[in-house]
Amino acid sequence: MTSAFPLARTAAPVPDDQRAAILAAPGFGLHFTDHMALAHWTPEAGWHDRKVQALEPFSLHPSAAVLHYAQEIFEGLKAYRRADGSIWLFRPEINARRFRRSAERMGLPPLSEEDFLESVEALVRADEAWVPEPTGEESLYLRPFMFAAEAFLGVRPARRVVYSVIACPAQPYFAYGGVTLWVSTSFTRAAVGGTGATKCGGNYGASLAAQAEAEQNGCDQVLYLDGAGENGCIEESGAMNLFLVTAQGDLVTPALGTILEGVTRNTALALASEFGLTPVERQVTFAELRAGIADGTVTEVFATGTAAVITPVTGIKGDGYAFSIGEGGPGKLALALRERVLDIQYGRVPDSYGWLR
Ligand code: PMP
Repeated sequence: MTSAFPLARTAAPVPDDQRAAILAAPGFGLHFTDHMALAHWTPEAGWHDRKVQALEPFSLHPSAAVLHYAQEIFEGLKAYRRADGSIWLFRPEINARRFRRSAERMGLPPLSEEDFLESVEALVRADEAWVPEPTGEESLYLRPFMFAAEAFLGVRPARRVVYSVIACPAQPYFAYGGVTLWVSTSFTRAAVGGTGATKCGGNYGASLAAQAEAEQNGCDQVLYLDGAGENGCIEESGAMNLFLVTAQGDLVTPALGTILEGVTRNTALALASEFGLTPVERQVTFAELRAGIADGTVTEVFATGTAAVITPVTGIKGDGYAFSIGEGGPGKLALALRERVLDIQYGRVPDSYGWLR
């Protein structure tokens, strides 16, 4: 099969011994593979010049629109190696769809889901040697992104756009004791009609001050509320969706609208019935969360995301209050669900949902 993203292999790959040293302790987002996928867009030619080539810096005019107006979107997904050496992607079609919706919101030219999937697969094939052995929960993190490259300071959708995919080996991220959340009343991440459901760079730049506030208050991550603050609803955490388990057997997560539609969120909802839980997407007020934790009707809280998989939330703190959840340790259901998701992702159990590619 010829790829729509043909490979021009690098003449100067990272030497084997260096790559092995990196793979032994990759961290996250520090070391990149030998290649990158690329495509270019203009109104005249549409998407063209698709390829996989040596990883190299971009050359951008200082007036490039992305540098001034943040016309940019991205995605995050992982490639997993199995014990038999084969390499798999987990539900990448959902990332492809989300990327297309993000492009529409940010005035960027939509990339077909086919191009998204082919570019990701072509890069994984080129950099196969960079997908870690599955000794723990290592994986190859893939970062597709698109930005406005036109040299022009007017505020309008750019007429020169670049799409690319880069990859970095990633160590498991898991806070074994669970994470604590800081309820921010100084910052929100989204409003109705805004870009909360979009994976655009600006959302993450704007989250840094809130994250710093959480850390100053001794917490790991932010719990975002809607614009109504503590009288309103909970939204999500930094780069994770939130879930509550109720004593009556519901698995509740905030409804879509101003939050990111997480792949892992969707997965947790789909798996709920395996654990005897009813999946529920609805608005959750902060008052309900707080009262439920206090009277035991909320038995667990956890967060979901590609990096975090399923991470238990053990405590919530805000201005003048702090409470722990359940026994203050990781919840049983969160841990069981986490194992189930990892078993599917690493192919340790049959792919009964058809989620792997
Ligand atoms: N919310 C936000 C704001 C995120 O950035 C992410 C990470 N993409 C998530 C939730 C979780 O989404 P996913 O499960 O697709 O990683």
